[in-house]
Amino acid sequence: MFDFSHQLLKYSALALKQCAHDFETIDEITEYNQQKMLKAFVKNGVSEAMFAPSTGYGYGDRGREVIDRVFADAVGAEDAVVRHNFTCGTHTLTVALFGVLRPGDTLLCVTGLPYDTIQPAIGIGGDSGHTGSLHDFGVKYAQVELASDGHPDFAAIEKAVREQQPKMVYIQRSRGYSLRPSLSVEDIEIIANLAHSYSSAVVMVDNCYGEFTERREPVEAGADLMAGSLIKNPGGGIAPTGGYIAGRHALVELCCNRLTTPGLGREVGATLGHTRELFMGLFHAPHVVGEALKTAAFASSLFTSLGFETTPQPYETRHDIIQAIKLQKAENLIAFCRGLQKASPIDSFVVPEPSDMPGYDSKVIMAAGAFTLGSSIELSADGPLREPYAVWMQGGLNFHSAKLAVLSAAQALLDEQKKVK
Ligand SMILES: *Cc1c(COP(=O)(O)O)cnc(C)c1O
Repeated sequence: MFDFSHQLLKYSALALKQCAHDFETIDEITEYNQQKMLKAFVKNGVSEAMFAPSTGYGYGDRGREVIDRVFADAVGAEDAVVRHNFTCGTHTLTVALFGVLRPGDTLLCVTGLPYDTIQPAIGIGGDSGHTGSLHDFGVKYAQVELASDGHPDFAAIEKAVREQQPKMVYIQRSRGYSLRPSLSVEDIEIIANLAHSYSSAVVMVDNCYGEFTERREPVEAGADLMAGSLIKNPGGGIAPTGGYIAGRHALVELCCNRLTTPGLGREVGATLGHTRELFMGLFHAPHVVGEALKTAAFASSLFTSLGFETTPQPYETRHDIIQAIKLQKAENLIAFCRGLQKASPIDSFVVPEPSDMPGYDSKVIMAAGAFTLGSSIELSADGPLREPYAVWMQGGLNFHSAKLAVLSAAQALLDEQKKVK
């Protein structure tokens, strides 16, 4: 059923060989983080009784209380809040922003323009004044651009922190849908040290796509708070929805007040039977992230040998699960997404078409065949139809299946090129 050409299978074998060292490193990180995870489960005495659903107010839901503790321990944080009630990553990050910031405060983003969906929450780029954004509430916004090589501009960050004395220094760890490199936890540590040396700022990290890709999480390297989505890395492909915020206890408490209400905070919130899935997904997360990292490393090797520019490149250290490949031509990008879709467990029969998307000035094409709608810890890919026709690919619940999908994408692309000739 998977009709890969002899030529492609040779490239595939070669790519696998080239990945051997990357895979070893990934396995070491996975094993370390999986140990951390198991330890957190054991330490907190997770038991089956905790999976019982609560309804109504959800008072005294033991599973809800314990998953917060397990998550905190697994990421080396003082405290955490893990809830299915967070509707997505953007919502989770927004709760953290509004939880901490007050009118008159300054939010300083030190990694250039934040992720697209966060911009309206901050009120960047023409806030009508009536959306309920941070800007609407009188929170000021400032930004430090990345250096020309795409890395943080530490000197500019130091200057901005000294001069602006922000309430919050905001770091986006992952590249998102840009071609800049992702931040290492080491880079985050340098920024956190700068921020804490020259101001009393809260250092907050958008940790989306970064969880369990390194041995340390940002809150173990000086960040005060971090947040992310459960349909990405820390949901392990099992959580059906939700998000988390982790970090210093007092800050997490403020976020809980914002999530529900001041006074009630984390004491309410029926779990409706989702607790088992959230525990199970969290438990699997380090392993699943390892599978996704292997998928990304394999794709990088394969497409490099097919003559395309990739970022991260083979052998580059990874700080998130995203792999970008510059496919050079619209036809290549379309063929890639269609090939990937064809080897997805769900919706394999669907043919992706480029279409207009709100907020984009060019058409966008997406491939996703996931058990959970929009889940990007499951293998998915997308890209806008404009130069350099890059595709951003991420996820893969298991490498063996995701590898087939990457090969299917490559085969579709090779077939497309043959057609053109
Ligand atoms: C995915 C993502 C978000 C937002 O998450 P959604 O779940 O799509 O709302 C924010 N920042 C980064 C870097 C992301 O990758």
